[in-house]
Amino acid sequence: MTRERREPKRSRPQFRKKKRRPCVFCVDKKALDYKDIGFVRRFMTDRGKIAPRRLSGCCALHQRMVAKVVKRARQLGLVPYSVE
Ligand SMILES: [Zn+2]
Repeated sequence: MTRERREPKRSRPQFRKKKRRPCVFCVDKKALDYKDIGFVRRFMTDRGKIAPRRLSGCCALHQRMVAKVVKRARQLGLVPYSVE
């Protein structure tokens, strides 16, 4: 095989240029409520874990608040700690 391999691929569109969607809480000024199970569940994976920032799309501040709310909801038994 004598095909040219090292072909420069500089014409590719750059990664990391995607605009990050702004945090839903920053935009809507929506209040986090641990009693709103449907809403809390949006920030959990299907296995019951807290969704990481890359999935939830939250900013650092609101991601911390989300984590706190999820933990509170867990303690009250509103959402499960883990799903088998
Ligand atoms: Zn935010």
